[in-house]
Amino acid sequence: MLTLIADVDDTVCPSTQPIGPEMAREIARLVNGGCAFAFISGSTLGQISAQLTPFLGVPHHLLPVSGSHYVQVEYGQGKPIFKEQYRVEFSAEERREILSAFEALIAAYAIRPLTSKEDQLQDRGSQVTLSILGRNAPGDEKRAADPQGKRRREWLAFLRQRLGDKYSMRIGGTTSIDVTPKGIDKAYGIRRFLETIGRKPSEALFFGDKLGPDGNDFPATQVVDCIEVQDPTHLLEILGRFKPGPKG
Ligand SMILES: [Mg+2]
Repeated sequence: MLTLIADVDDTVCPSTQPIGPEMAREIARLVNGGCAFAFISGSTLGQISAQLTPFLGVPHHLLPVSGSHYVQVEYGQGKPIFKEQYRVEFSAEERREILSAFEALIAAYAIRPLTSKEDQLQDRGSQVTLSILGRNAPGDEKRAADPQGKRRREWLAFLRQRLGDKYSMRIGGTTSIDVTPKGIDKAYGIRRFLETIGRKPSEALFFGDKLGPDGNDFPATQVVDCIEVQDPTHLLEILGRFKPGPKG
C-alpha cells in the first residue's frame, strides 16, 4: 500500500491558502483507493489543519513543524477527530534561553513588527520563529523586508554568539528565522512518521516544490523517492496518473 507525503505551501495549495476543491477530490480518490496521505510543513498544526482538514473529508495525517508533531485525522459523522501521536518540544529552559536571545536581538537591532509582538516572535513548541514584520504583515511589505536574507544572516551570527551551536538555526520563509532542536527537519519527520505507521520508505513517495539543495524539502530526498512539482496545478496532473486498486 502506497504512502504519499506532500509538502503543503505551493505544493498542494498556494502559500497559506486553503486547498482547492479539485485537489481535495483527487486526494480523497487516492485515500479511498487505499493510499495513506500525509502533509508535512514548517508551519503549525493550527495553520495547516485550517488549510486542509475542513476540505478533505477523508482520513489523513498532519505533520506540522517539520514533522516534529504528528496528528492523525479521522472523521466521525462528518466532523474531524484529531489524534495526537507525538510531539517533540523544547524543554522550558531551552525555550527561555532561545526566547531571551531573540528578545536581545530584537532590542539590539530595533526590529519592529507591523502587526504585534506575539505575531513577530512565535513559540511553536519545537520551533521558535521570528518573522521580521510579523507573520501576518502584508505580503508586499514582507517581500521587501529582506529579499536577499542579508539582514537575517547578520542576525544569525548575533544569535550564534549567544546560543552557540546547540540548536539548528536557519533562514526560513520570506522574512523568518527558525530555531529548532538539532536534527529536526523533514527527513526526521518523514522517517519517524513511517516508522510509527509501520511503512517502509521504499513504499512511500514525497512531493514538494523546493527539493533543490537550499530548499526546505531537500532533506526528504535523504529518506524517500521524491517528485518535484512546480505548483499545485502540476501536482494535480501527476496525482491524476495514479490509479490505486481497492487495496492500493
Ligand atoms: Mg513548499
